[in-house]
Amino acid sequence: MSSSGNLKIIDRWKHKKDDPEIQEAFKIATVGPGTSILLLDDSIDMPNHYGLFLPKRLYRYSGHLWDEVFRSAMRYDYDYSLGCEYYIAISSRVNRIRKEYPAFFMYVCAHEMGHARIFLSNPELHIFSSLLESFFKEASGTIKINPWEYPHEKRCDQFGLSVASKIYSHDTLKAEIPQLMNSRIFNADNLEPLLLLPERDNFNGLRDELIHFSISYKNELIALWIEDLRRCGNYSLVNEIKDIESLFVH
Ligand SMILES: [Zn+2]
Repeated sequence: MSSSGNLKIIDRWKHKKDDPEIQEAFKIATVGPGTSILLLDDSIDMPNHYGLFLPKRLYRYSGHLWDEVFRSAMRYDYDYSLGCEYYIAISSRVNRIRKEYPAFFMYVCAHEMGHARIFLSNPELHIFSSLLESFFKEASGTIKINPWEYPHEKRCDQFGLSVASKIYSHDTLKAEIPQLMNSRIFNADNLEPLLLLPERDNFNGLRDELIHFSISYKNELIALWIEDLRRCGNYSLVNEIKDIESLFVH
C-alpha cells in the first residue's frame, strides 16, 4: 500500500490555518496514491451520516446528497477538485464539535479514510460493501440492522478509533465518547457501541466477513441488483461488478 497520496483540506470554517493533526491521520491511514479532498463545510448537514467517502470514479452512481457535496467543493476550489480522485465530506454536526471533541472529530475523519483505504486496496470490495448497505434490508426482509453493524462499517469504526488514538491517545478518545453521549448532540445509542469496539489498524479478512454476513441472502441480493441494473441502467452501481456470483466466493 503506497502512502504517497496527498490531502487537500477545504475548511470553510477556517478553524485553523493548517491542520497538522488531520494530515498526520491521513499519513497513518496510508490513503494513496492520488489526491484526496477533505471537505469541512458548515452547509453540509447529513442527518444520517457523520461523514461520507466517494471516489470520483463512482460519482455518477451517487445520490443527490453527493451532488450537493460536490457542488460545494467545486464552488470553493474548482480547479483543484477536477484533479482530485477521492472525496471525504464531514457533516456539519461533526465539524461544529471539532474544537471541543478533537479526538472524536479525528475518529470520524479516519473512519472515512478507512473507506478510502478499502477502495484503494480493492475497489470491488468497496463496491460490494456499498451494494450490501443499499440492498441488505430489502433482501433480508425482516432483519433489523443498525448502520454501524455492517462488517465494513464496524471495521472502519475500528480503524477510525485506532488512528484517532494514535494522535490523541486512547484515553482522550475514550473519555470524549461518554461526554458526547451525555451532551445529547448525537444519539447516544449510536455512540455506545464505540466504547466496546477494539481498535484495529488494518482491513484483513473483511472480504470473508462480508461474504459470511450476506451469504444467506445471496439470491435475494442478486435479484435486487439485477433489477436495479434494469431500472437504473448506466446509473446503477452494479455496472461496476464484472461477475456478481464471484462476489460471494471466498
Ligand atoms: Zn462508514
